[in-house]
Amino acid sequence: MIEVKNLYKKYNFITANNDISFKIDDGEFVVILGASGAGKSTLLNILGGIEVATSGSVLIDGEDITKYNNKKLTMYRRNIVGFVFQFYNLIPNLTALENVKLAYDLVEGGIEPVKALSLVGLEKRENNFPYELSGGEQQRVSIARAISKNPKILLCDEPTGALDYNTGKQVLKLLEKICSETKTTVILITHNQEIAKIADKIIEISDSKVKSININEKKLSVDEIEW
Ligand code: ATP
Repeated sequence: MIEVKNLYKKYNFITANNDISFKIDDGEFVVILGASGAGKSTLLNILGGIEVATSGSVLIDGEDITKYNNKKLTMYRRNIVGFVFQFYNLIPNLTALENVKLAYDLVEGGIEPVKALSLVGLEKRENNFPYELSGGEQQRVSIARAISKNPKILLCDEPTGALDYNTGKQVLKLLEKICSETKTTVILITHNQEIAKIADKIIEISDSKVKSININEKKLSVDEIEW
């Protein structure tokens, strides 16, 4: 369970997150929806322990990660969360397999890199470098990298933002499958209201604040949405 309480993030004169509070249950697929500049990435990065909150708390199973020292925060980043970014963030001079292995080697009890790549349908591309792969394939390598650590929480920052429509749909299907089959909590950022319809819960952020939190009673599958 994730519980964010009265979270603020200030950069000098800019308040990127202003009194944010919400709860997320284990295994939920959550979309954080909002316009550009609303404060979504800042929030996701705080949840992932790669940004430090100005004040407030982020409780993960009751433990406040904002109180963690550097050592505990490093362990949290390694073992608890996995990140998927809009532009994949693969290491260009390492193969797909080596990129995944880099993450896998950080943890104990992860998913073997070869298996992680086959779970995303890339078993035949292990030895390719990122520049030899399409955008969709690179994003799938980045998902393999994230899941190879067997994270409790998968944080996805506009994972379809750089992809064409059909490839974006494939990536969303993969994330949906990971969430439903492995009970990983998935938190996905988007500005796209249609994509938000696949979520169990939609947290809308506007002007750095929570505008609404909705349990999505009419949850759709990726095949049912169009944008
Ligand atoms: P986008 O969808 O365009 O990525 P977003 O909703 O993710 O937007 P954030 O990237 O979280 O929004 O940015 C929220 C606000 O915080 C913006 O005004 C941004 O300029 C500011 N901001 C973010 N990171 C920093 C930083 N490191 N230093 C200063 N200001 C920042």
